[in-house]
Amino acid sequence: MDASEGAGAQVFDWLDAEAGRRAETGLSRRLQPRSPVSPELDLAGNDYLGLARDKRVAGAAAAAALRWGAGATGSRLVTGSTELHAELEHELARFCGTQSALVFSSGFTANLGAVTALSGQESAIVTDRYIHASLIEGCRLSRADIAAVAHGDPAAVKHALSTRRKSRALVVTDSVFSVDGDLAPLAELSAACRAHGAALLVDDAHGFGVLGEGGRGAVHAAGLSGEPDVVTTITLSKSLGAQGGAVLGPRRVIRHLVDTARSFIFDTGLAPSSAAAALAALGVLKAEPGLPGRVLDNAARLYGQLSDAGFAVTEPQAAVVSVRAPSPEDAVAWAARCAEQGVRVGCFRPPSVPDGVSRLRLTARADLTESEVDTAVKVISATAPRGATS
Ligand code: PMP
Repeated sequence: MDASEGAGAQVFDWLDAEAGRRAETGLSRRLQPRSPVSPELDLAGNDYLGLARDKRVAGAAAAAALRWGAGATGSRLVTGSTELHAELEHELARFCGTQSALVFSSGFTANLGAVTALSGQESAIVTDRYIHASLIEGCRLSRADIAAVAHGDPAAVKHALSTRRKSRALVVTDSVFSVDGDLAPLAELSAACRAHGAALLVDDAHGFGVLGEGGRGAVHAAGLSGEPDVVTTITLSKSLGAQGGAVLGPRRVIRHLVDTARSFIFDTGLAPSSAAAALAALGVLKAEPGLPGRVLDNAARLYGQLSDAGFAVTEPQAAVVSVRAPSPEDAVAWAARCAEQGVRVGCFRPPSVPDGVSRLRLTARADLTESEVDTAVKVISATAPRGATS
């Protein structure tokens, strides 16, 4: 019997009504499995340094799975911690110049854990309006007073801090915003935090491995790594080509997270194979400090050619290059036409775009050749909808 028929099925009828509304407005989503040997040119993934398939990285994951097993077997506080987790935490902290680090099962759970554990009913949280969904969920769970202020506006952050009603305060921002790839004014935000007795939490998911000296990230580039009032979160699933997340910061912050962060305590630990992959990828990044520069060169090449062709493109600050589409339907159809021509691009549209503007989201990778970038630009141009160029 079909699960939408028979006794009890009516309790979920409202889902069909909602699905119908999403379909009408072009907001239905479809899973598109990729093949392991895809001939496709990938400008949609977040494997910025091209390390996900690197033999040193994938080989380390395979060896760790054989040695430690396929999963972590338990929470980090029970059976889920191995010497690989400890080494990864040590190496991440050393690389970024923080006292300590703590590895989570994903960037999402790292953000949930950090925001909730470092705030609460006694706190005010001030965020940029465009922060990542995982930080927003952390804010919602925190029970703190929340002020979500204008995007990229340190004066608005200062105002919210100075008018808060709670003594403790946490300012939360992405370093590189995921939709347009623009940078947060980290130095100004840090100064505002200092002036108003607040801590600063920066999600460096898109900066780590791409920005800063040797890929140490946007927080390091801003001179804030290792500061006593700054906490950084990263994902291991973008530049490091693995899976997982981490929080980096002062030792007492990390100790507090181990004792209180619910997404750390009540979650199965990161699989040892993922910890091994991230560790190997970090080793490659240290050995090849030119990799991040290649990402930025490819992003600049994409941007230069697309803006010369008349598209509305944001100037990239990291790996993300965003091209505006006239409507959500145009964005979906445009991305589909690119895929038919062998170029996979991201398609961002409401509700994933806070400003309501749909975009193709392209990501530059270190291992794209110049001719691959040129091919991608040709396909994107040839498949563009009417109204995409000025
Ligand atoms: N923060 C940002 C800015 C992200 O883009 C993402 C991934 N989309 C995350 C956090 C979550 O990281 P993960 O995929 O490792 O859960």
